[in-house]
Amino acid sequence: MKTPIKHHQVIHAGWMNEQETSKRGPKGGILADKMGLGKTLCTLTSMVHGKLPARSKESRTNLVVVPKSLKDQWIIEARKHTIQPSSDGMLGLGAIISYSTESSSEAQMLIFEGADLVIVTYPELCSAFKNVRYPKELADASDKDKEKFFNKSVRPKLPAIFRFKFRAVYLDEGHTIRNVDTISSTACHKLLSKYRWILTGTPMFNDPTDLYSVLDFVRHPTVFKLTFKGFKTLYKGVENSDDDKINHEWVATLLHETMRSWTYEDELFGYPLTIIPDSVTSEHSRHLSVPERAIYSVVYDRLKELALEANPDPGPDGEKTYKFVAGLFMVLRQMTGHVLVLRPSTFKHLTDDDMRAICREINRPPVRDPFADDYIAALLKLQRSTTCTICKKRTKYIRWAVCHHAYCEGCLTEIMHIAAERGRADAVCELCKLPLGELTDAAQDAKDDKPKWLNDSGKAIPSTKSSAVVDLVRKWRDPLTGDPQAKVLVLTTYKESHKLLAATFEEEDWNFTALTSEMSNAERNDSVSRFKLEPETFIMLATSGVGGTGLNLMNAKYLINYDHYWNEATEGQARGRIYRIGQVEETTIVNLTAEGTVDDRMKEIKEEKIMNIGKV
Ligand SMILES: [Zn+2]
Ligand SMILES: [Zn+2]
Repeated sequence: MKTPIKHHQVIHAGWMNEQETSKRGPKGGILADKMGLGKTLCTLTSMVHGKLPARSKESRTNLVVVPKSLKDQWIIEARKHTIQPSSDGMLGLGAIISYSTESSSEAQMLIFEGADLVIVTYPELCSAFKNVRYPKELADASDKDKEKFFNKSVRPKLPAIFRFKFRAVYLDEGHTIRNVDTISSTACHKLLSKYRWILTGTPMFNDPTDLYSVLDFVRHPTVFKLTFKGFKTLYKGVENSDDDKINHEWVATLLHETMRSWTYEDELFGYPLTIIPDSVTSEHSRHLSVPERAIYSVVYDRLKELALEANPDPGPDGEKTYKFVAGLFMVLRQMTGHVLVLRPSTFKHLTDDDMRAICREINRPPVRDPFADDYIAALLKLQRSTTCTICKKRTKYIRWAVCHHAYCEGCLTEIMHIAAERGRADAVCELCKLPLGELTDAAQDAKDDKPKWLNDSGKAIPSTKSSAVVDLVRKWRDPLTGDPQAKVLVLTTYKESHKLLAATFEEEDWNFTALTSEMSNAERNDSVSRFKLEPETFIMLATSGVGGTGLNLMNAKYLINYDHYWNEATEGQARGRIYRIGQVEETTIVNLTAEGTVDDRMKEIKEEKIMNIGKV
């Protein structure tokens, strides 16, 4: 190694080599050191130490599978930390190669043979694998028979990366494969290698059952023989068993044999591994304003009815139902950020009586909300867009033609009928005479893209949460009582919340920069460096999918999570943007909660998950 290795890294690199040479198995494991403690360096050390002499018949090539955004970084680090091999090839790492599909399969085999380290991304691996199909008659076959078929008939036709036997395969951010049904999970499981490693700071993402896929991948002798169902039964017992029957201890034993993990709190020789100034995470809860509460609670009731009407049968339609109900829940989650993210396809379920009830509530004396009129105007717009063009009635069976005009079922049948009588294949809209086209909710929602939370003069109507963000940022940057230089990272789960906050910050005349999934790599890099280098740019507004992982935004000491996360792992990833090794200031993380909404339920779900993971 070119880079000196810290004690705790030597210990885990040593453990990795012990695992590889042990007789018991698994020949590999999970390296789960917390972010920033040097999993990469530790892995490289283990590779260098485990290197075979050039005359060896066995494969010397290591494969690392990484998220797309980390490929370049891995190559740079591997070259930076390891020395070039001596003439007998024994030291350091020789050829370090970025996987590419440009060469033929046979040429690739030769490239792999000559390399010490190959780096491939999950998407590259998936696209190399994507055409695998099992014949119908194998649908009910055992895993063993499927595996046999795969090795005999499928593997020989796959690209070299699935035919080459590597010395070791390492899955960086290995929790990526936690869901056994995904193509990236299947593709990774099919890689051939003597040793198999998972690198992740969060091996249990949602629940201890996430461990099945990773333990199966590393070929843990017990888990490798189990199906996912078998694993779940051993862990949770049969369906609906009591909480205290859950076998946390069994999973803990599996982990003890397979996993090592350093945390920020660990000490070695009486000294902490690392010193990061304290980080405080707190909940900032607020009640919704009167108009928000009035709208939210009526929509909640209507969506609940829809969910209850949905087919509860877990049969073939069960998954559809699950997705449908999850979709309704997502509408509510988004509404905690601003109730006017409502789409016509949701609003059509509100009756005119509902509308009157909401308005009565909003107008109820003594104190009228300063934005009451804006909220009512927005609702009237939604009401108009969900009214039948012909009979002017509102029903939940309303549909939209491609021209954007709404039709109730009765009127629709009638104009179709008339068109048929006149011998025309496609009916036309009564108003604009354009063909009706396919009538879908999605088309209407997509066309209806002007945010309802903008009032008639184009200003964002504040929500409880968006006002909370403004208040917090003002307080933190107060010239007298706060730190006027402080920088703030604001993360949202939803695009709509992102847009709302962008509009809000613009109205405040705040200098902010943004990160979204629509931006190119160059645009993202530019945005990050503006946040880091420009003193006047003090807010980074990012969607959590892009800004919540991988990035180092240590120059911020405040983080606001606008929407709730499903699990602690994602929240921890977000926190890791500012609370990480090298941070010299205390950090403050605030989760916004709209009290009395699904946010409360989100918190409960997250706490249940934390409890189960904690027990293991
Ligand atoms: Zn009608
Ligand atoms: Zn029309």
